[in-house]
Amino acid sequence: MADYTPSHASPDGADRMAITNQHPSTIAVWGGEEKPLAFGAAQVPIVQSAPFAYEDMDEWAAVALGQAEGYIYSRNTNPTVGVFEEKCRILEGGEKAIAFASGMAAISNTLLSLLSPGDRVVSIKDSYGGTSRLFMDTLPRMQIEVDLVETSDADAIDAAIAKGCELVYLETPTNPTLKIIDLDRAIRAAKKRGAIVVVDNTFATPINQRPLEFGADLVLHSATKYLGGHDDAMGGVLIGREDLVRTVYEHREICGAVLSAFSAYLLLRGMKTLDLRVKKQNETGLAVARFLNQHPKVASVFYPGLETHDKHDVAKRQMSGFGGMLSFSVDGDFDALKRFVGGLKYVHRAASLGSVNTLIGPPSVTSHVECTAEQRAELGISETLLRYSCGVEDAEDLIAQLDEGLKAV
Ligand code: PLP
Repeated sequence: MADYTPSHASPDGADRMAITNQHPSTIAVWGGEEKPLAFGAAQVPIVQSAPFAYEDMDEWAAVALGQAEGYIYSRNTNPTVGVFEEKCRILEGGEKAIAFASGMAAISNTLLSLLSPGDRVVSIKDSYGGTSRLFMDTLPRMQIEVDLVETSDADAIDAAIAKGCELVYLETPTNPTLKIIDLDRAIRAAKKRGAIVVVDNTFATPINQRPLEFGADLVLHSATKYLGGHDDAMGGVLIGREDLVRTVYEHREICGAVLSAFSAYLLLRGMKTLDLRVKKQNETGLAVARFLNQHPKVASVFYPGLETHDKHDVAKRQMSGFGGMLSFSVDGDFDALKRFVGGLKYVHRAASLGSVNTLIGPPSVTSHVECTAEQRAELGISETLLRYSCGVEDAEDLIAQLDEGLKAV
C-alpha cells in the first residue's frame, strides 16, 4: 500500500487541539487551514497534479513507505482533498477522515470494505434509495445478511441488533419522510453486541447533530448536499475511528473512487459558510413546516421540529437544530401536484438537496427513483409527497410562493 499520511500533512498536535476547541463556525472557516498554505495563499490552492515529484530518492522512498509525511499520487492523498478531509474530521470530532467522489462512493466503499460473506447487517427501511439498493441487491448477492427494520420502531431496532450483527447502519433524519432514530438507544444496543455503528449524517450536518458523540464509530456524508451547499460539486466523506477508516482507505485505494482536487476546492469554499447556512435553513425549515401544517390543501407535513412529529422529543434531545429539509403531501392527485410544483417560482425542480437554492421534487424522481411504486408505498411515500429543501432565500418569500402555488391544488 502506498502512503497513508494524515488527512492534512501540516497541523501539529497543539494546533489540532486549539482548533478543536473552537465553535463550529470558526472550524468551518479555519479547520485544516490553521497554518499558512503553499505560496502564502489565503485560500486553499487547487493542487491539480496526479503524481508528486521528488528530487531526493531517499525522501521519495520515505514518503512512499509511509515513514514521512508527503504526497505520492492523488488516488492516495492530495493536498487540496486533505484540507477538506481535515475540516470534516474536526467538525464531526473524529480521529480520521477520508473523502470520496460522491456520497454513494463513501457508503458503498464503507460497507463493502467492512463486511464479509456470512456477516449480518441491521439497518432501517428508510435509508436513502441508493443505500437501500445496496442493502436489497448488492450485499445479499455477497452472502451478507441484511435485516431492514421499521425505522420508527425503537424496540424492533433493539431486537434486531440483539440477535447479533457485525454492523449497524443508521440514517436520521431519514430521506424523504424525516423519520427520527434515537441514536443514543440504538448505539447502546449495538455496542452491547460489539457491532460497528455507521451513521449517515447528510440531512443533519455536524452543525445540528454529531453522532460520534453518541458513540457511533463512523459518520458519513453526501458532501454534495449541505457540506458543499451550492449544488456545484459531488463528493462524499467518511469520518471516525482511525482503524476502521484505514480499512476503508485501503479499499478506496484499489476501487479508486477518490474526490478530485477541484471538487475538494469547491466543497471547501462552500463549507466556510456551513454554520451560517444551516442555522438560517433551520429557521426557514421550521417556518415553512408551520405554515404548511396549518394549510387546508396540505394533507400531511413531515418535519422533526414540529411538536406533532412522533419523535419530536428524541429530535430535541439529539439535534441542536431541525434542519432545512421537510416533506409534505398535497391534498389532491398527481395532476394537482404537477400544477402546484410547475407554478412555483424561486425554486429548482431538481433531485438534490441542501443547496443555497431552494429545491423541490417528488421522491419518485428524487431520493427513491430507484424504487418501484409498491416499494415507495410500503415506506409510506405517497405519490403526492414532495420533498422540499429550504435554501437561504427569505422565508417570507418562500412561504408566499407556496401559498400562491397551493391555490392550483
Ligand atoms: N445519503 C443521503 C441521505 C442522500 O440524500 C444522498 C443523496 O441524495 C446520498 C447519501 C448519496 O449521495 P451522492 O448523491 O453524493 O452520491
